[in-house]
Amino acid sequence: MSLQLLQTFLASKRNIFVLTGAGISAESGIPTYRDHQGNWQRSDPIQHLEFLEQTSKRQRYWARSMVGWKHLQAAQPNRTHIGLAKWESIQKISLLVTQNVDGLHQRAGSRKVLDLHGRLSEVRCLGCDAVSSRDEMQTRLETVNPDLANFVAGYLPDGDADIDDYDMSSVKIPTCIGCGGVLKPDVVFFGGAVPKPSVEKAFAALSQSDAVLVIGSSLAVFSGFRFCRKAAETGVPIACINQGKTRADDLFSIKVEMAASDAISQLT
Ligand code: NAD
Repeated sequence: MSLQLLQTFLASKRNIFVLTGAGISAESGIPTYRDHQGNWQRSDPIQHLEFLEQTSKRQRYWARSMVGWKHLQAAQPNRTHIGLAKWESIQKISLLVTQNVDGLHQRAGSRKVLDLHGRLSEVRCLGCDAVSSRDEMQTRLETVNPDLANFVAGYLPDGDADIDDYDMSSVKIPTCIGCGGVLKPDVVFFGGAVPKPSVEKAFAALSQSDAVLVIGSSLAVFSGFRFCRKAAETGVPIACINQGKTRADDLFSIKVEMAASDAISQLT
C-alpha cells in the first residue's frame, strides 16, 4: 500500500500507540533476528532459565556480551528514531513501546518510551535486586578477562557477538558488589516474562489511543503481538511499516513495506 494512504490515516489521529522492533535499529547497524520472510537467521539466543540455572551458559553469555557491547554502544540513532522523537514533541504519540533493548529511542530524544524488554545499559542483581550500570560491569568484565577485551568478532542481535571458538570455561563473571549475587542484564530473555507493571502501562496507553503504528517488527514474539490483538479486539485501527511478513498481517488496516527510515522521514 502507498505511503500516502498511511499519511492520510495518521493525519486524522491524535494519540498514536507506537510499537517498534529490531527492524528500526537494523539501519543503525544492529542486526535483526528474522529476515524479510520472517525466517530465523541466527543461532539460538540464551533462554531465561538457562541463564539462571547454568554457570556455563552465563559464562558464554557474558563473554559474548562483553565483545558485543562495544558495538551496541557505538550504534547511533537513525532517521526513524529521530523522526519518532520529533512526533512526540508535537503530541502525536500516546506511548512508544519498544521491544528493542538498545536505548536508541531515548538517545534520539524520545521520553514517552516503555522499554518492554528492558535495557542492556543496566544490570540487575538476582540476589538483592540492586541495579547498576552496564558500563561498570563492562569495566569489571574487562579487568578479570583481559584477553577478551580486544577480541574482534561478528556482531549479532541484542549486543551479542560470535566468539564460539573461545574457551568459555575460563571466563570469569563479576558478582554483585553489595551481596555477591548473580548479575543479569536487566532485559527480558527469550523464555522470560515481561514485568506486569510494563504490560499494564502499555495496555492503559493503548486504551487511550486512537491508532496503533507498528514499525520494524515481525511480531513473532507474543509480548509485542498481544497489543495488536487487543487493538483489533477493541476496534483500534492498526497501521504497519515493515519490510516483510509479520504475525499480524491480517489485522492491519494499512501496511507499507519499505525501509522504516525512508517512510518515517517522509511522514515527519
Ligand atoms: P524481528 O527480528 O523478529 O523482526 C524484525 C523485522 O523488521 C523483520 O520483519 C524485518 O524484515 C524487518 N526489517 C528489517 N529491516 C527493516 C527496515 N530497515 N525497515 C523496516 N523493516 C525492517 O524483531 P522483533 O519483532 O523486534 O523481535 C525480536 C526480539 O529480539 C525482540 O523481542 C527484541 O527484544 C529483540 N531484539 C532487539 C534488538 C535491539 O535492541 N536493537 C535487536 C534484535 C533483537
